[in-house]
Amino acid sequence: MKEKQYISSQLNYLKASPTPFHAVAAALRLLEDSGFIRLFEKTPWSSLAKGKYFVTRNDSSLIAFTWDETCTGKLHIAGAHLDSPGLKIKPRPVREKHHCLQLGVEVYGGALLAPWFDRDLSIAGRVCCHQDNDTLHTPLIDFKRAIGIIPSLAIHFDREANKGRKINNQTDLVPVIGLTDNFTRGFYALLKDQLLKEHPEYANAEILDFDLFLYDVTPPLLTGLHEELLTGSRLDNLLSCHACLQGIISTGQQANSLIILNDHEEVGSLSTTGAQGSFLEDILSRLYKNPIERQQVLRKSLFISADNAHAVHPNFDDKHDPQHLPVLNGGPVIKYNANQRYATNARTAAQFRMFCHLAEVPVQEFVMRSDMACGSTIGPMTSAALGIDTVDVGIPTLAMHSIRETAAKSDCWFLFRALQKFFSAEKNT
Ligand SMILES: [Zn+2]
Repeated sequence: MKEKQYISSQLNYLKASPTPFHAVAAALRLLEDSGFIRLFEKTPWSSLAKGKYFVTRNDSSLIAFTWDETCTGKLHIAGAHLDSPGLKIKPRPVREKHHCLQLGVEVYGGALLAPWFDRDLSIAGRVCCHQDNDTLHTPLIDFKRAIGIIPSLAIHFDREANKGRKINNQTDLVPVIGLTDNFTRGFYALLKDQLLKEHPEYANAEILDFDLFLYDVTPPLLTGLHEELLTGSRLDNLLSCHACLQGIISTGQQANSLIILNDHEEVGSLSTTGAQGSFLEDILSRLYKNPIERQQVLRKSLFISADNAHAVHPNFDDKHDPQHLPVLNGGPVIKYNANQRYATNARTAAQFRMFCHLAEVPVQEFVMRSDMACGSTIGPMTSAALGIDTVDVGIPTLAMHSIRETAAKSDCWFLFRALQKFFSAEKNT
């Protein structure tokens, strides 16, 4: 795969993935197009033939792997998270105020909220419905067009707005989705109309519940004088998810490799689909039925936890340690933290450096200023739960957790190439 083709695939993946559900559905299409076979946790897996497989959980997390039962050596594992901070629609969302029709939302994760104002927003996610019998279905919907906005308060009512305005999540962040005069049929009827537009086969379905998010309709794009920058929503962490997917898709079958794409990283990972849940352990125990053998394999293996890193911001460079300034177009960043907020150690960092060297891509380092608190990611929890050596890495990004983030196009390509080397460089013997 060439860089241009990779970036085009990256942009398509971002466009198709306004929510974790859509990101899993888009991943599933990429994997099936490349010959991966879908498995289900609800059924037993008799001994799997040599091949490529994937399994999803709750439509919002995914594990894909290449498998050859006779390989008892290393398992190459990479992981990333599919969720991003944002606004989730409440169960009884509709409110009418001064002719404005509005939707109540909860803030999901540590969102940077100011950029959500005055954006054209759409709605996407999944609905849960039943039809004709008791079976529940969870089709995805995506309105795709702008239907909402969170208008700012005019500066005339708050002359101090530019000196730092506090945002109240309950009262300030309530999007307007139209005028009350035109709204007669209720929110569920609106969802049913959209469901039928996308899935006519649900004509007799009754929608019982939903998981829906707001998102920015502005598509991701290349910008900069030479189109060297990539901007969009959810770059943290769909850039890493895409690199993991394309990495395992492009690897040969000589080694056993696995990727895990988790949900709920932005809210602490404690769920059936999060990194503190049982998903990875459950799948590994199906693959390696003997627990001693499983432990031996994991102790030989490396987990690359990929999650975007903070690039140094040209307007705020004093926020970084002056010796550790990850730059855009500087390659993947290895993340260090003495207090184990990142699971990197000298040995795992050295291994990642070797893959970057083999792939001929640059590599850089991040450590938080010693007088500031450090974030974390799925690396430490997966490492602790499985006893697997882990390195935390990521693509340098500006404006992390904004509704629109910025990265360098080349860094996406560099991470993919490093992961490709990881998945395919060593024979699994
Ligand atoms: Zn992240």
